[in-house]
This record gives sequence, C-alpha cells and structure tokens, in this order.
Amino acid sequence: PLLVELRQVGKIYYLGESRITALKGVNLSIHRGEFVAVWGPSGSGKSTLCNLIGLLDTCSSGTVRFEGQDVGALSDDQRSELRNRAIGFVFQSFNLIPVLSALENVMLPLQIAGVSTARAKRAARKRLAEVGLDDHEAHRPAKLSGGQQQRVAIARALVTDPALVIADEPTANLDSENALRITELMRRLNSDNGTTFVFSTHDQRLLERVERQILMRDGEIIDDRSPDRLELRL
Ligand code: ADP
Ligand code: ADP
Repeated sequence: PLLVELRQVGKIYYLGESRITALKGVNLSIHRGEFVAVWGPSGSGKSTLCNLIGLLDTCSSGTVRFEGQDVGALSDDQRSELRNRAIGFVFQSFNLIPVLSALENVMLPLQIAGVSTARAKRAARKRLAEVGLDDHEAHRPAKLSGGQQQRVAIARALVTDPALVIADEPTANLDSENALRITELMRRLNSDNGTTFVFSTHDQRLLERVERQILMRDGEIIDDRSPDRLELRL
C-alpha cells in the first residue's frame, strides 16, 4: 500500500527579494515497508524533500498525500497531529537532550503523548535493546560516542511505532565505519519491523546494498532505481 505520494511537487523559498527553487516537478511514490535512500550533492534538495515527506513543511505547488490524505488540505494542527502519530525523525546532529539519560531520551516521545511512565519505560527499553544499547540506558549523551548517540536517536524515533522514519543525513557527523553501521542498523530495523525508512545521504558508498535509490540534482529527481521501475524495464 501507498504511504506517501508526491505529484508535481515544487518548493520555493523566499529570502528577502530572492526566490530559491529548491524542488521542481517532483513525482514520487513510497510504499509501506520500503527502505528508500535519497542521495545527491549538497544543495540538491534532499532536506527539502525530507521535510515535505515528513510533514514538517508544505509544498509551494503540486500535491503531497500521506496515507491517501492531501496534506495541503490539513490545518497546521492536523498536520502536526498526523506527524506526531505517524512519523519518527533522526537528525544529522542527533538532537538528544543532554540532561536526560539514554533511556529518558527514548521515553520522551511517549511521555509527551501521555503514555504512563511504566509503559514508556518498557517500550523504551525494548527499543534500546534493538539498537544494542540496553546496557547503556543510564548514560547521558555526552558519555556516548557519536555512533551510540545516533543509535539512541534511532530508538527514540521508533518508540512510538511510527509508520515512517525520516533520517536526514543521519551519518554526516560520523566516521565512515560508524556511518556504515548506522545504515546497516536502519536496514535491519526496516526488515525486522517493516517500518518504512526514508534516508538521505550525500555519501554514495552507503548505498551499495540499498535497493531503492533516488538520485537528486538541482531540485529534481534524476533517477529512481526502484524495484517497480526495474520490473517495468524487464
Ligand atoms: P544540508 O546540506 O546537510 O541539508 P544545510 O547546511 O544546507 O544542510 O542546511 C541546514 C539547515 O538550514 C536546513 O534546515 C536547511 O533547510 C536550512 N538552509 C539551507 N540553506 C539555507 C538558506 N540558503 N537559507 C536559509 N536556510 C537554509
Ligand atoms: P540538500 O539537503 O540536498 O543539501 P536542501 O534541501 O537543504 O538541499 O537545499 C536545497 C536548496 O534550497 C539549496 O539551494 C538551499 O540553499 C535552499 N534552501 C534550503 N532550505 C532553505 C531555507 N529554509 N531558506 C532558503 N533556502 C533554503
């Protein structure tokens, strides 16, 4: 089933007098359970695309549908509600809260959603175990390596059981070995849990075994190596 659909999507940023066209004519369908890598050089529109798919921003033209719903027809509150329910985020700079332990960081989205502390703790422990950090739950972020911090952030993104996880350049601040590990971890979580992932990177080396690769340049998708397209070609 279709999860996200973009049709003829454009995005323009206005900076004072100038207009920056960040996306033009983007068509894209993402199905449940897919692992999608978006790659391209800096400035090609990867973040802008992730922000639209993640319902953090709205498009200037065209249509974005999430679970069949036209996102442009939603109020800001409705869009936030949908985002909080259905989407988890992983960021380049980890964005963990420094004064909270790893466990408390992972619990936070559930506590904000009003889940009891006991249930939040159980769910967070399960997610920390999935990313191999159950023995580090009491550590604050500063006591963890970059790779470990990003694993905590991935556990946090998954704790609400989102349909979709958006990871925008999650490996940009990691060395190449940790970058590869984080990519492999996300792929394992995708196949174990069926969670849909959209993962952006400018590092082509991370894509070797990713089936669906969307290549961006100057705000356009210039290649989409998806299994569907491959079938069409055969
Ligand atoms: P990346 O290339 O890794 O996406 P950037 O440094 O381009 O990172 O962008 C970091 C943040 O700043 C993003 O949220 C992006 O939307 C925003 N940004 C990028 N370019 C501009 C710009 N020219 N003016 C204002 N904000 C920008
Ligand atoms: P990438 O993630 O591939 O580096 P971005 O989506 O961040 O690309 O940026 C695409 C283009 O849009 C770039 O020219 C960037 O400077 C511009 N841009 C991104 N975010 C903003 C913003 N908030 N305001 C103005 N320009 C932006």
